Amino acid sequence: MEKLVKLLKAVIRWLKYVREPVLVHRPPSDDFMARQMSQMRVTQEDGTVPTSYPPKPIQEEKTMQISISSGHGLRVRGAAGILDEVKEARRVTDRVAEILRANGHAVNVFHDDSSTTVAQNINWLVAQHNRSDRDLDVSVHFNAFQPTDGPMGTEVLHRTGDGVAAGAAARVTGAMARAGGFRARAVQPRDNLGFLLNCQQTPILLEVCFVDSRADADLYNQNFEAICQGIAGALVG
Ligand SMILES: [Zn+2]
Repeated sequence: MEKLVKLLKAVIRWLKYVREPVLVHRPPSDDFMARQMSQMRVTQEDGTVPTSYPPKPIQEEKTMQISISSGHGLRVRGAAGILDEVKEARRVTDRVAEILRANGHAVNVFHDDSSTTVAQNINWLVAQHNRSDRDLDVSVHFNAFQPTDGPMGTEVLHRTGDGVAAGAAARVTGAMARAGGFRARAVQPRDNLGFLLNCQQTPILLEVCFVDSRADADLYNQNFEAICQGIAGALVG
């Protein structure tokens, strides 16, 4: 008899256990919290009732000011091969500026249409950059070496000792390599370029790809938009 009672008790315990609803802890829904908080007259600084809990932080958009110029000039031509450096540097500069502006950033664009010597050209570009309001100085170039069908790659130059520029250079190199399918060349300081030496706001100089490499030129033509999107994203990233 005693055994039977024990057994019955055990069965009852088991039945209770299996019938017990499983409690799952869920955070309250946004609607529920909004109702609760409006009843509690919880208001935010601007007097409105938060519609979610916890109230979503107001995200401050990070906007940047960027000065960007194309290398060389209309009358001081750069490298020419399968691609023409001045023509393509202007295309990239203008498209990157458009993308940045569409994303709320302030952009100053410079193309040199008047200089007739290399010295005039560098001085004019540096002066435009240094008198503009900006967080970053960017110069767009294309590289050249010798005619080849093979891939050469993309790189970004900065001056020695500028860690911020080195970081931006690494980001932009990676972005161009990914977007264009280019080989990423090592990010290296260069201290013999007028633009990098004289611009005062974290100057970086892009060498998008090689104008005399068939592989680079094809990749550039196929991936132009992605490359510009990649550059724009990396400049403000
Ligand atoms: Zn150049």
